[in-house]
Amino acid sequence: MTELERKQDRAPIPADWTYVSAPESRDIVELRERYGHFVGGEWLEPKETYTTIDPASEEPLAEVGQATDAEVQLAVGAARDAFENGWSALPGSERAKYLFRIARILQERSREFAVLESLNGGKPIRESRDVDLPLAAAHFFYYAGWADKLEYAFPNRKPRPLGVAGQVIPWNFPLLMLAWKIAPALAAGNTVVLKPAETTPLTALLFCDVLRQAELPPGVVNIVTGDGRTGAAIVKGEVEKIAFTGSTEVGKAIQRELAGTGKKLTLELGGKAANVIFDDAALDQAVEGIVNGIYFNQGHVCCAGSRLLVQESVYEDVIDKLKRRLTTLRVGDPLDKNTDVGAINSRQQLEKIQELVAIGEEEGASIYQPPCRLPEKGYWFVPTVFTDVAQSYRIAQEEIFGPVLSVLTFRTPDEAVEKANNTPYGLSAGVWTEKGSRILSMAQRLRAGVIWANTYNRFDPSSPFGGYKESGFGREGGLHGLEPYLNFE
Ligand code: NDP
Repeated sequence: MTELERKQDRAPIPADWTYVSAPESRDIVELRERYGHFVGGEWLEPKETYTTIDPASEEPLAEVGQATDAEVQLAVGAARDAFENGWSALPGSERAKYLFRIARILQERSREFAVLESLNGGKPIRESRDVDLPLAAAHFFYYAGWADKLEYAFPNRKPRPLGVAGQVIPWNFPLLMLAWKIAPALAAGNTVVLKPAETTPLTALLFCDVLRQAELPPGVVNIVTGDGRTGAAIVKGEVEKIAFTGSTEVGKAIQRELAGTGKKLTLELGGKAANVIFDDAALDQAVEGIVNGIYFNQGHVCCAGSRLLVQESVYEDVIDKLKRRLTTLRVGDPLDKNTDVGAINSRQQLEKIQELVAIGEEEGASIYQPPCRLPEKGYWFVPTVFTDVAQSYRIAQEEIFGPVLSVLTFRTPDEAVEKANNTPYGLSAGVWTEKGSRILSMAQRLRAGVIWANTYNRFDPSSPFGGYKESGFGREGGLHGLEPYLNFE
């Protein structure tokens, strides 16, 4: 026996493969007790406030402003001043400098932002660190590159900025949605008033520090916080454009409000995407894609693969593998680097998920949840799979926006297409097959704005994103994402 073999022989055999917790320190984040609105480059003391919390512990984090109509008007006025007195006349290369600076500062401070994003939103630090932050910076880098090339991007069309853009964003990707909205607006020469979601204002407020560090001229970006009333005040305000991401219901209300006003509008709304697994797919990879498709960010993803369509001949195999994989998902502390599924963003969202899951059981679907111990405080939901789902069930039609998958089956590609398209939404879809020709044919027939092949939930700033039908209209990302922020002669 060699020395090494002797040592190995004496080493204790690990009892199991559970992970030791590896929490990220929250010390890097310095929270203020109270935040105002960021208007004209200054902090405006808010008239009303509310408390924003950590959904994993229900602990209060800070007091945040609830912007009144008058405060929103001040922000719009500051954006107008900045637009008319300098920003819109700056050469594109100068605007680009600011965007590049913002991108670099976000990279430098990415750990701080990632921790704060997880604290305030409940998403696993692994995702804030590896997805949200790199992508947010990448959007600023990408659009910085276009700022001085608009004439080449839209040849012979003489692009001009619109003016002030009002932007209202949701709570599922707070900083990333901010980047999707602000980067193209500024690259195109507009100024901005943005409202983050009520439950996740903190990274947008920290971003104001970045704006100061980048020496962005005052008023070019204004951030007001508050609930839906603040969003509604922005929509009514003297702005040239509204960019909204959120629920279909609020999107429709905004569209009604803006009809006939001449304000431009883009809407990025809900989804109920089909993730289609053909029997020739690499099944182990497909199972990873299913997990990433629906359990990423607790399923709080508009393009989540929430309806799984599996070809009948591989159904049992796929479901067995999926159930086995679910038992290995770690649900818990968002700041633990091992966590796969974090906290549900709010009590309200948790109740919505619980309600739809109860409806799924009443309707007759079979539920599977892996054994899982949830923390005592905070908002949590166990990753869930529904089988025996009929197309008419509400869990097959409505956006649950949580870690809940509904599984349906199909026999032929035609049936897969018909079932996949049988939804009021049209945001995204996934196709898993080894045949390139099948990917192309499915991509042509699926009514969805984004279609992933043999992968899921992959994003890139150069790639346009947006939907059809009740998923909204207009595109964000890529050249397409600049167009809604420009007028053409
Ligand atoms: P909302 O559509 O209500 O929220 C999106 C944003 O709009 C938030 O900033 C919200 O403020 C604001 N808002 C609310 N009411 C108005 C209004 N009348 N005028 C202007 N702005 C308004 O989504 P919820 O957060 O309530 O989530 C509900 C459901 O919507 C989810 O369960 C999910 O199904 C879907 N959703 C879809 C998203 C997507 O990415 N497509 C993102 C988020 C939700 P406040 O935060 O105060 O409500």
